Amino acid sequence: MTDYIIFACPRCGMVRYAREGQKTARCLKCGYQIQIDAQKIRILARAKNVRDAIDLTKIYKAKKA
Ligand SMILES: [Zn+2]
Repeated sequence: MTDYIIFACPRCGMVRYAREGQKTARCLKCGYQIQIDAQKIRILARAKNVRDAIDLTKIYKAKKA
């Protein structure tokens, strides 16, 4: 089973999700190559499936706005 993490881009704060274990993710907003490392990014939430990951991403985006 794959877990997903929800996190914010360290450069622009854009909230997005990625699979746990993925090494990098490009920010869709600023193009920054995010190193997915718990020491470098702040994990906002975790999800058990992609649907929950999308829902949580929306919730955190709404909170930030
Ligand atoms: Zn960004």
